[in-house]
Amino acid sequence: MKTCPCCNEEFRGRENKVFCSLYCKSAYNYEKDKNKPLTRFRVVDNQLRLNRKILAKFNQAGKATVRKQTLLAEGFDPKYITGWWKNKKGDTYLFCYDYGFIGREENGKEKYVLVQWQDYMLK
Ligand SMILES: [Zn+2]
Repeated sequence: MKTCPCCNEEFRGRENKVFCSLYCKSAYNYEKDKNKPLTRFRVVDNQLRLNRKILAKFNQAGKATVRKQTLLAEGFDPKYITGWWKNKKGDTYLFCYDYGFIGREENGKEKYVLVQWQDYMLK
């Protein structure tokens, strides 16, 4: 008999079987991962995904202007980007994957103009 490290029940199983069930196996591994400290890779990865999600949420029409504070309140962090694109006027748009933004001041309020990636930006 073996003892399942998740539920502590005894069970019979093949030599290499560690958990009594698939349920216990995934529950155990989930708990283990949850307690692991976040690596820098995961912190950056999570923030980039969150940034993209927020940009997509506020830019459903392909272009939009949003108050900077609104995005920051959602958890947006402009330091985390995947690339940039400069237009002919010299304005630099920062991108998180396929969604871009650029800071702008309008009536004394800080805003972001949101854009979507276009193929001509490759040039
Ligand atoms: Zn179990």
